[in-house]
Amino acid sequence: MTEPIRNPDIKFTQIFINNEWVNSKSGRVFPTINPCDGKKICDVQEGDKDDIDDAVSAARAAYKRGAPWRKLDASKKGQLLNKLADLMKQNISYLASLETLDNGKPFYDAEEDIVFSIETLQYYAGWADKICGKTIPVDGSFFTFTKHEPIGVCGAIIPWNYPIPMMIWKIGPALACGNTMVLKPAEQTPLTALYLCSLIKEAGFPPGVVNVVPGYGPTAGAAIAEHMDINKVAFTGSTEVGHLIMQASGKSNLKRVSLELGGKSPLIVLADANIDDAAMWAHAAVMTNHGQNCCAGSRTYVEASIYDEFVDKCKNMASFRQVGDPFDALTQQGPQISEEQLNKILGLIETGKKEGAKLEFGGERSGEEGYFVQPTVFSDVKDDMTIAKEEIFGPVQSIIKFTDINDVIERANNSKYGLAAGVMTKDINKALMMSQNLEAGSVWVNCYDILKAQTPFGGFKQSGHGRELGEYALHEYTEIKTVTINFPEKNL
Ligand code: ADP
Repeated sequence: MTEPIRNPDIKFTQIFINNEWVNSKSGRVFPTINPCDGKKICDVQEGDKDDIDDAVSAARAAYKRGAPWRKLDASKKGQLLNKLADLMKQNISYLASLETLDNGKPFYDAEEDIVFSIETLQYYAGWADKICGKTIPVDGSFFTFTKHEPIGVCGAIIPWNYPIPMMIWKIGPALACGNTMVLKPAEQTPLTALYLCSLIKEAGFPPGVVNVVPGYGPTAGAAIAEHMDINKVAFTGSTEVGHLIMQASGKSNLKRVSLELGGKSPLIVLADANIDDAAMWAHAAVMTNHGQNCCAGSRTYVEASIYDEFVDKCKNMASFRQVGDPFDALTQQGPQISEEQLNKILGLIETGKKEGAKLEFGGERSGEEGYFVQPTVFSDVKDDMTIAKEEIFGPVQSIIKFTDINDVIERANNSKYGLAAGVMTKDINKALMMSQNLEAGSVWVNCYDILKAQTPFGGFKQSGHGRELGEYALHEYTEIKTVTINFPEKNL
């Protein structure tokens, strides 16, 4: 743990192409806002299609045969990733402070994000010279082997909820596999991505390997998704925009697409669980990062015999949650990211009340300025209520009663999403049965939201395509080439 810097200097606000800082071609800038008070932190250069074109040209040149990056040994690529991890460690206090300022998450949470990101970079640094194919015993007199090659120029479009991990989850495996990248940070949180560019340059990555263009989604983001010279796009964000990204791929060059999208994840508490532990995990599952978490456990299913006691515990924990200044060491919850998100959350809370859910705690805006909302707990929530179906992306827990274990699996799966699920039980048979039948990319038993550099993460159904993290993420950044050599033994 380090000490926060309350007013970190803003060092970088330009577009990063070819290891250089440039202004937008249009001359436009956009403001980035402090969610604690709604005031502008600074202006940032607003990239658009022309800037994306320049970034793609730089990434393509860096990917060309004979370019320094292409000639670099795989082990040296790993060393550069490790160097970047070291630089992040050296600058952790500044980086976390910048994230807290721009995003509003508590400083110590921002620090945890960075520690996780450093571990992720180190993990992929280790992979860089271990990405290999197979030799295949084919029929006939042929020798066949496969190579796992980079895809080429990769685009990345990332969200505002975990700005640093989202960037690192993409550049880590992409660069370990030898690709080059054009990345657009979310318009709400561009500052840490730009600072990371300065560390990328300092680490010694050749020009054009990583290019970062801040800007808006329908302009700069769409230009990435539609680009004819980008070979792959990795997107994290809403399911709605995920549909647009796939369409753009279909309408342009069929670039490969990986998507990590929304969720409405169930966490199921069986009566035999340790009730205090289960309540603690269920609270954290939905409140972590102010509820701004794609895998938030936002539907808490609780078995009828412990329901009332469980609701009381959740209500109690919400009442103790410290909301306030994210630079304060005791704060657990800062502001939501924007006025738009705050209003969306407050609107859904009103809908919950109107549709008959019982408001146990919270439900109001918190504070005079900024985008703070009270941690909120609803009980008596029914599956068909809006708050049980729609992704709220805020600190709102919906507690739902169930009586039958088979029935609750059906109900938990009855969602267009399938990102994550949790099960709280001491019974190993029930844990295995449920983890087998829940339709979700991650199932956590007696824990929740445990993500590590080694664990693949991604969604079933409309929660996405492909996996990030772990060895599986390497598949998202490689093409498989099959080489077959005629090997007629009879001529020897
Ligand atoms: P949220 O609603 O959480 O902000 P979005 O899916 O809108 O999630 O945003 C996630 C990322 O997608 C951001 O970087 C945003 O700028 C980008 N984005 C938004 N709309 C588009 C679009 N039409 N095409 C490409 N990227 C987009």
